[in-house]
Amino acid sequence: VFLFSIGKLVEEHTVKHYSDKIQSYTNDVLTGTRSSIKQAFTPMTVDEIMVKLKFQKGIYAPGTTKEQIVSDEMSFHEQVLKKKIDEPKGMILRHKEFKDDTYKLANATLLSLVRNKELDGILHAISQIEKNWNQRYHYPITFINEEKFTEEFKTKVTAAWSGPVYFELIPPEIWNKPSNINPAKEKKGIERLTSLGVQYAGMDSYHNMCRFNSGWFYRLEGLKKFKYYWRVEPDVDFFCRVDYDLFRFMEDNELTYGFTISLYDSPWTIETLWPTTLKFVSENPQYVHPNGAFKWLTENQQNPENTKNAQGYSTCHFWSNFEIGDMDFYRGEAYSKWFDSLEEAGGFYYERWGDAPVHSVGLGLFEDKSKIWWFRDIGYHHSPYVNSPNSDKCDDTPGYFSPEDVYDQNCLPNWIKFEMTVEQLERY
Ligand code: GDP
Ligand code: MN
Repeated sequence: VFLFSIGKLVEEHTVKHYSDKIQSYTNDVLTGTRSSIKQAFTPMTVDEIMVKLKFQKGIYAPGTTKEQIVSDEMSFHEQVLKKKIDEPKGMILRHKEFKDDTYKLANATLLSLVRNKELDGILHAISQIEKNWNQRYHYPITFINEEKFTEEFKTKVTAAWSGPVYFELIPPEIWNKPSNINPAKEKKGIERLTSLGVQYAGMDSYHNMCRFNSGWFYRLEGLKKFKYYWRVEPDVDFFCRVDYDLFRFMEDNELTYGFTISLYDSPWTIETLWPTTLKFVSENPQYVHPNGAFKWLTENQQNPENTKNAQGYSTCHFWSNFEIGDMDFYRGEAYSKWFDSLEEAGGFYYERWGDAPVHSVGLGLFEDKSKIWWFRDIGYHHSPYVNSPNSDKCDDTPGYFSPEDVYDQNCLPNWIKFEMTVEQLERY
């Protein structure tokens, strides 16, 4: 009954892009390949793209109050998370035996941009990943910083990790503000953001960090050799055991990006990200994937003032403090060219464009959304939000998301309803 009701809810709101492919998809999984679900999508014209990027028809009747919408969305979210789950079903999973010397790891590293003063916080985070997952796999971890790591930092993180540990210094020409930024314009922008109450508006290093995480980390010398990364921040929690190889999961199932939490953002930090992007898209329509996550990017129901102030972008994003991704997507032509246009516009400094909305808009427009995976089974907490599955492998309160006063910041129900198929939802 329960599964049926979720399925039905989603079915009502989801365009079923490949329901006819489910059978062949299942067969592919059994034979260990997903190649035949690669669809021959026809590129869209600029006009077709612009139609897709205008939110068309909502799922709530006009006049429904925000309070009602938030309450409905949250109960849907909770209902989905309360379903008892285990590992993903019908996907290719690899489980390494603890002592298997022949096991082939993916080409991947965990990755943490972190400061020396955050040593305790990062130890807290990585020891949970070690205990709940990596002690079986011994994947490498790469710590990056624009300042040298102290000996104490290096010794302690190395002791806490069972795989290789790398340290990478970010060259100043990558980290620092680029020369095209106009100081007078920047000052005006910061004053505006400060007056609007935007956190970290006047903090130079935060702007550098956002820009670095948006478009530079995967170009570092020490990262060039890796394809997949898993981003880890200090002071986060991972409270579910995961036995299968998460990186091989990405590789074997041909996924580009995995996330746990999806939120709205402050529109003031990204006031011109969407118009800048639309300009790029109108000049380069060939990069837009016909199976993009257009509705999630443009919906205007739960927080219509966000979509308005961000000039057409819902501000919905994957919360990037946790992400597992394929860096070759960022290194590819579409994302790279688009990122160059963002650099030229300067919004990392005139506004406070975050790496979460930048990754998310890039993925939502230029990647096939069926390659984006919600890791329902990864219990994750970064204050104040939680992804909290109902599984015997977790130590948590299933379905808990956040304190009530920030319920309206949750955008995951939109991802589920607008961008996932029933078939994908039933993979757990
Ligand atoms: P918030 O989650 O948006 O409040 O931002 P955080 O303070 O957690 O910063 C995001 C990530 O960037 C964390 O992994 C921080 O350790 C890292 N970070 C932020 N600022 C700096 C910085 O100036 N230098 C370095 N090396 N890391 C930073
Ligand atoms: Mn953080």
